[in-house]
Amino acid sequence: MISDKSRYDVIVIGGGHAGTEAAAAAARFGAAVALITHNASTIGAMSCNPAIGGLGKGHLVREIDALDGIMARAADLGGIQFRLLNKRKGPAVRGPRAQADRKLYAKAVQEAIFGIENLDVIEGEATDLIVEQGRVTGVILGDGRELTAGSVVLTTGTFLRGLIHIGDKQIRAGRMGEKPADHLSATLERHGLTLGRLKTGTPARLNGKTIDWTVLEMQPGDDDPEPFSLLTKNLPNAQIACGITRTTSETHAIIRSNIHRSPLYGGVIESRGPRYCPSIEDKVVRFADRDSHQVFLEPEGLDDDTVYPNGISTSLPEDVQTAFIRSMPGLENVEIVRPGYAIEYDFVDPRHLTSSLETRAIKGLYLAGQINGTTGYEEAAAQGLIAGLNAARAAAGNEGISPDRADAYIGVMIDDLITHGVSEPYRMFTSRSEYRLSLRVDNADDRLTGKGIEWGCVGAVRTDIHQERQKTLTEWRDRLMEWTLTPQEAGRYGISLNRDGQRRSAFQLLSYPEINAETLISVWPDIANMPKWLRSRLETDAAYAVYLDRQVSDIDTYRRDEMLKLPADIDFTMMPGLSGELRHKLSTVRPATLGQAARIEGITPAALAILAGYASGRR
Ligand code: FAD
Repeated sequence: MISDKSRYDVIVIGGGHAGTEAAAAAARFGAAVALITHNASTIGAMSCNPAIGGLGKGHLVREIDALDGIMARAADLGGIQFRLLNKRKGPAVRGPRAQADRKLYAKAVQEAIFGIENLDVIEGEATDLIVEQGRVTGVILGDGRELTAGSVVLTTGTFLRGLIHIGDKQIRAGRMGEKPADHLSATLERHGLTLGRLKTGTPARLNGKTIDWTVLEMQPGDDDPEPFSLLTKNLPNAQIACGITRTTSETHAIIRSNIHRSPLYGGVIESRGPRYCPSIEDKVVRFADRDSHQVFLEPEGLDDDTVYPNGISTSLPEDVQTAFIRSMPGLENVEIVRPGYAIEYDFVDPRHLTSSLETRAIKGLYLAGQINGTTGYEEAAAQGLIAGLNAARAAAGNEGISPDRADAYIGVMIDDLITHGVSEPYRMFTSRSEYRLSLRVDNADDRLTGKGIEWGCVGAVRTDIHQERQKTLTEWRDRLMEWTLTPQEAGRYGISLNRDGQRRSAFQLLSYPEINAETLISVWPDIANMPKWLRSRLETDAAYAVYLDRQVSDIDTYRRDEMLKLPADIDFTMMPGLSGELRHKLSTVRPATLGQAARIEGITPAALAILAGYASGRR
């Protein structure tokens, strides 16, 4: 793991969720990789909630897995409660989520990283980049060491000029107890990248032994927990239940009467936090009509008494935190192990990036994770995988790749970031995708593994499994299309259909809500041999078939516009016929295609007509 080598194909800075996926993806491509991080023992650390997946995020984890990334397997090895969220809604918007044992999750990530032969982990702080003629050629460490590389991936998370707030107390840190990365911001700015400040927050941690669990409602995991990874056969850990408590009118009164002591409301923190993960003081102020908010009490590990109270992140002073937490049922005598806090950090305007996550200002430099204005482990990991893979591909002289909006949520996220930028931390939701019936958690491998094999980030084990699954899927789909019956024949098996004389295939029959694969075994007994994963997969495909057919034509139109490339050297600032505002927007985003230009807010049909001239080579 430790090496005195100084020349690599790819250097990754940061051993968080983005950095580990970046390093692993670059290594799978075959690059010689160095992963520089402050402290090797914090590789795989979860800064905030001990959970992976959820709505939208679960899709990202499955997509990471489909591209042979490590997050899904680590979540299976560390998972202590698995739940499929939105079970009652359609398959397109279901979200697998696992609560993780922090230590087991980090252990799984570390074992994955330390087990990669062509990857060296180097402890230290990257303090500067070596840039020659607009191209990054290496990294300088705090102790003066210089490492050179073909490409560099920067994944600094919340560490770039990180500043923690607890009441009026401020601590310079990247995470509680860890020093910030103060040097790289100046380098990035010097090379023309625009930086901004964002903030996020975390709740206090509680001593589970001091919680009165007897008065709490308990929430168990699923009876038939489903792993994240296609490669996981068995989930190794015992499953635990979480407790549920609520804020009370007393909680809200305590927060309201101390709101002036919150750095958020005292004007000390001006940067924006995640709208969909607000602090408890935000919830109490913004939703003043609500007299209670649910709080999930999530154990942080199997042999750890620490409990994470999900839903009450805060930057209020410690005495206020203690008072409001103790005003909730079951927490009257709770002991606080560590106070909650807010953290502000630098991020880079992601509109400076191409779809391969390379900066336009410094060739060979890729950014991924929180540094691009996102929030969340899954968002970070997904970007890390694409950035690391592209860094390795570029170092070996290959062109950049990126899934598009119709391939994957990863493609949606990257396109959103580079086209719209961020004004608040970006997190994934299924509603961000216009093709969500196609982008399901159950077909991520179908959508991406073949592409991943082509791009060079999928190993031999998964390639074999994928090819076998594809073969089985095609064989069964063909069979279900070939097997047909008339309504009269169906009636003999107790299946009632509209008596229109039309023959229907077994696949068409699966689209009826009252018919599933089990129902059809009486007609075609072979169906009993269909693997379980395939049954639900084909039932969903059949149920969505009409809509999916329609979506295919929308996707064709989208992809036609994506084929219309805009020349990379267009000078938008001089383009005639455009308003000053549009020229500015186009110069900032520098859309690569006419399709991307059309997604820029405020773009007009007239402007698109002008750009179409450039795309077709008429101008
Ligand atoms: P990180 O996980 O932060 O990892 C960055 C890594 O880079 C660290 O290992 C660090 O040591 C290393 N590093 C940084 N700079 C250097 C350098 N110059 N040299 C060497 N090593 C370096 N997400 C949510 O989804 N919901 C939440 O509610 C939420 N709350 C959060 C609350 C807090 C207090 C914090 C700190 C984070 C929170 N997050 C939350 C965000 C979540 O932790 C991040 O989105 C995720 O960890 C980002 O992954 P990353 O890989 O980009 O960075």
